[in-house]
Amino acid sequence: MLQTSLEFLKREFFKYYYENISRLVPPEPIRSREFGFFLEKGKGMFRHKCFNSLRDFHEFILNEIPLDIYVSAANYEDPCNRDMSEKKLVNAELFFDIDAESVAAVSEEESAWICQKCNQYGIGLRDGCPSCGAPTELVRLVSEKQLNVALRETEKLIHVLREDFGIAPENMRVFYSGNRGYHVHVNQEDFLNVTGEGRREIIDYLLIQGLDEKELLNFLKRGVSIGGVSLKGVKRRVYMRVLEKAGSVEKLKTSKRETVLKMLEGIVEELKVRIDPVVTIDMHRLMRMPESINSSSGMVKRRIRLEDLPSFKPLEEAIAFGDEETCLKVKIAPRFRLGGRTFGPFKDEEVELPAYAAVYIVCKGLGEYAGR
Ligand SMILES: [Zn+2]
Repeated sequence: MLQTSLEFLKREFFKYYYENISRLVPPEPIRSREFGFFLEKGKGMFRHKCFNSLRDFHEFILNEIPLDIYVSAANYEDPCNRDMSEKKLVNAELFFDIDAESVAAVSEEESAWICQKCNQYGIGLRDGCPSCGAPTELVRLVSEKQLNVALRETEKLIHVLREDFGIAPENMRVFYSGNRGYHVHVNQEDFLNVTGEGRREIIDYLLIQGLDEKELLNFLKRGVSIGGVSLKGVKRRVYMRVLEKAGSVEKLKTSKRETVLKMLEGIVEELKVRIDPVVTIDMHRLMRMPESINSSSGMVKRRIRLEDLPSFKPLEEAIAFGDEETCLKVKIAPRFRLGGRTFGPFKDEEVELPAYAAVYIVCKGLGEYAGR
């Protein structure tokens, strides 16, 4: 990224933070949280930072204009200690991440490849450069289709957290990550102290892991009703759904073993909630700060009210910048939709785009700022 592009980003980011600073409210209590920031492109994360007040936090943001802002899911006694164990963990929110990439495949038309060695590029997914054979860098745009699948998965997660774990809707906060996923933060008293092992069990339950299909099949084939067995957790979850689908214990008893097994496999797929387990298990995880800009796209990590989930439109509602015409030298860009408009495809051309689309192209590394 050219220096002029970085300066353009910083100017736009500053405008957003200046006008929206009151929206940036970290989870309480602010004094017990660790903060992390990406301050410069290509540099490591500046972390172990803490703040005494919301005002200090806001001042820091407006002075530094970070590219990305993170806050710990955990509360610590000493959040700025650089030694993780010396931070002294008090408790941690439950944090879930649903990554669009892992729930739906990315399409050729929404991707571009760039060869770092000979600077060739094109639209599509290519692992190797067709000219020099060097490995390429793949740039995937934010795909509406992928995000829709991820949103359905998020609704599924919320349903399970509510119905099976008894998490109250007011203790769940749902966000579009600003790029390719959704986040769910759970801040409910009785879940804050769940240990690593307990978190592992929650993950198994959601991903339907550790299920002994043979054992379950035997139960089902013997026609044992749920009252007659002591199934717990994930086994019980699957068992109940099979019974529900089959209609009765009798039907299962008389069905072929293969038929029941097939049904079982179908139900596992249906019930599975595709969360990223690595995120949930890690109590020291830093979460992207709500309402902050995601520098992978220039969109905002946007809070979504539960009742708005079914109709949420990430590519319109998470836009952070205005529509002043901005000149851009675009290397390569597949056709993309943003802010209710369609742009591109572009190749080796100078174009005028609204600021929000220009920021997006620069953040994706597909073009450089060329003035206003
Ligand atoms: Zn090449």
